[in-house]
Amino acid sequence: MSNGKRILIVGGVAGGASCAARARRMDEQAEIILFERGPFVSFANCGLPYYVGDVIRREQSLLVATPELFRDRFNIQVRLHSEVVAINRQEKTVTVRDHGSATDYEEPYDALVLSPGASPVKPPIEGLDLPGVFSVRTIPDSREIRKRIEEARAGRAVIIGGGYIGLEMAENLLRRNLQVTLVELQRQLMPLSDPEMVVPIHEALTERGADIRLGEEVARVSRSDDGLLTVQLKSGGTVDSDVVILAVGVRPEVRLAEEAGLELGPMGGIRVDDRMRTSDPHIWAVGDAVEVYNVVTGSWGLMPLAGPANRQGRIAADVICGRDVRFRGVQGTAVVGVFDQVLAATGPSEKVLKRLGLWDSPLQCEKIYLHPGHHANYYPGAEVITVKLIFSKKDGRIIGAQAVGKEGVEKRIDIISMAIQKGGTVFDLEEAELCYSPQFGSAKDPVNLAGMIAANVLRGDVEVVHAPEMAARPEGVCVLDVREPLEFKRGHVDGAVHIPLGELRRRMNELPRDREIWVYCYVGQRSYVAARALRQYGFRAKNLSGGYRSLLMWQKAVDL
Ligand SMILES: Cc1cc2nc3c(=O)[nH]c(=O)nc-3n(C[C@H](O)[C@H](O)[C@H](O)COP(=O)(O)OP(=O)(O)OC[C@H]3O[C@@H](n4cnc5c(N)ncnc54)[C@H](O)[C@@H]3O)c2cc1C
Repeated sequence: MSNGKRILIVGGVAGGASCAARARRMDEQAEIILFERGPFVSFANCGLPYYVGDVIRREQSLLVATPELFRDRFNIQVRLHSEVVAINRQEKTVTVRDHGSATDYEEPYDALVLSPGASPVKPPIEGLDLPGVFSVRTIPDSREIRKRIEEARAGRAVIIGGGYIGLEMAENLLRRNLQVTLVELQRQLMPLSDPEMVVPIHEALTERGADIRLGEEVARVSRSDDGLLTVQLKSGGTVDSDVVILAVGVRPEVRLAEEAGLELGPMGGIRVDDRMRTSDPHIWAVGDAVEVYNVVTGSWGLMPLAGPANRQGRIAADVICGRDVRFRGVQGTAVVGVFDQVLAATGPSEKVLKRLGLWDSPLQCEKIYLHPGHHANYYPGAEVITVKLIFSKKDGRIIGAQAVGKEGVEKRIDIISMAIQKGGTVFDLEEAELCYSPQFGSAKDPVNLAGMIAANVLRGDVEVVHAPEMAARPEGVCVLDVREPLEFKRGHVDGAVHIPLGELRRRMNELPRDREIWVYCYVGQRSYVAARALRQYGFRAKNLSGGYRSLLMWQKAVDL
């Protein structure tokens, strides 16, 4: 026994394990005990879909640390199969159920940290408890899915839910040559992203044979005597399957906290302050179970991601050990990869901002699109990144960004994420000094270009219109296509006047001076040059942001 303070931690994975290790680094005298109700501590839950897909071949590889490592390296006791079932706040003890011996015992604490995570949402749909229907949260879950695939010689899978876990499972089951049907209630995958940005992810899955059913709801799941599962959809159709994966989101695990009378927030997570302290001064909470302050939207919400959980665990440990540190809050920086396509985002999407009523006021948002190469186009292998940047018209503050493409996507979003954390503006992105060599980037990196395009809008150098406006343009608008003849021939906006950029200066007399001219090219760059020239000659020209390519992405999202 040490004479130091007793720090008890509930939950031994992302938030709990990082809290325990940090607490030891801060306080050599503390007695630290980590309770984990499952069979593993500190495992890589983010790697589970890849274990199902056999990308990660050995279960052992998912174990980031073992109880022995915690003991030997950190002098931390890890108790597996040990569920904390009650917090006795008056006595400052917890009741622990040892599932091995089926006995309960009490442990006193000076500081208690809750990191119980979030459990998969199970909607009230008949049949979700049937054998063959799985959620993906733990190593045993993924082991069972693998077993089912192998034992049933599974050829078909239905995934319910098109968020990132659903997508990662779809990719991995397709890798294992299963025929995958993905059912998503909303009219798009990745429901918190903007629909046009998700199109390449949708296509990456359908190109590999996935059957994606958008706007569909599961009514029930049934099982025949020979183990075949049938998923019935509310629209009337049915899909037969050998395995069903439920991935419709997670809910914070707050039972312990709630029963102990700790304050919860409006979204159902544990309420904490910026030092991760709950409404009880001796109890901290971190990770998926807590509500977090969103620095962009100014609202409290849930952000079940590994990065915040790890950082919060560290902060709780620091505070418990006497350091004055604070959690800055979240903005929602995330990435998902599906085959060769990567979708990353930081800050809220346009859709979320509009739903929260923040788009027009108070934030006064504007957006721009661009499609640059991920590195210099003259160097072999440049891949297009589509970037959408959302910023405030008031002062240029960056609100959010999404990017999709094959290479270099998350790097750009990480840069913009840091800019948002520091309260940066589009003018900061214009000036950002970033690495450049042809195989890595461009002298004007996509991040610089995004800043320059947005700054052009704010400085009044150009006015932009967007795909939905182009599709519903008022009568009287003259649409001008400045691409080359072959590009025009391959497809163009109905009724567009075609004058290639190279001919524009001598053919300007063909354009009306009394009407607005909406100019477009393929990605918005040549049309920007055209719009600048036209404006200087007295025409009322606007540029279609992101050009014909953005228009096509938007149209596909509408048609899905
Ligand atoms: C399949 C999958 C893929 C993911 N991929 C990503 C990703 O790519 N990127 C990303 O940022 N995030 C990802 N996440 C989310 C990320 O794993 C979580 O945000 C993170 O693990 C949360 O950490 P936590 O400590 O709050 O909870 P967890 O890591 O879930 O740990 C909670 C632990 O507490 C234990 N526990 C609960 N109650 C008790 C109790 N009463 N007593 C004892 N033990 C208890 C649970 O058994 C659990 O092991 C993924 C999650 C899953 C499931």
